[in-house]
Amino acid sequence: MTCIFCKIVAKEIPATIVYESDTILAFHDVNPKAPVHILVIPKKHLPSLLDFNQTNATLLIDIQQAILNVAVTLKIDDPGFRVVTNVRDHGGQEVNHVHFHVLGGRKMLWPPG
Ligand code: 5GP
Ligand code: ZN
Repeated sequence: MTCIFCKIVAKEIPATIVYESDTILAFHDVNPKAPVHILVIPKKHLPSLLDFNQTNATLLIDIQQAILNVAVTLKIDDPGFRVVTNVRDHGGQEVNHVHFHVLGGRKMLWPPG
């Protein structure tokens, strides 16, 4: 197993976990780009957003529930926050295990670079 996020799921490498369910893990990004920067991932290895389909679509509901939980727990639900998923090379994806960045604690810029 070479996937770094699968290793975090397996607790083989440490992470600061803020939410865990049967299907989802959320933890602090090791190199935060905002005062709050959480990564929300399915425990199952899927490479990117492109790999959701009719069979596993309930994972997207689970991810939304995790994002809601994280946002409320870390008190960024109001005034708000940003959710980003980078897809493949031009999207800026560096870890090929789908993840949703939850960024908050400051006003986000738009458009992103
Ligand atoms: P991407 O560029 O693929 O959208 O985002 C990957 C994110 O994973 C980056 O923000 C990076 O800081 C984070 N990251 C990479 N390796 C690790 C790690 O071992 N632990 C944690 N917590 N975050 C990581
Ligand atoms: Zn993985």
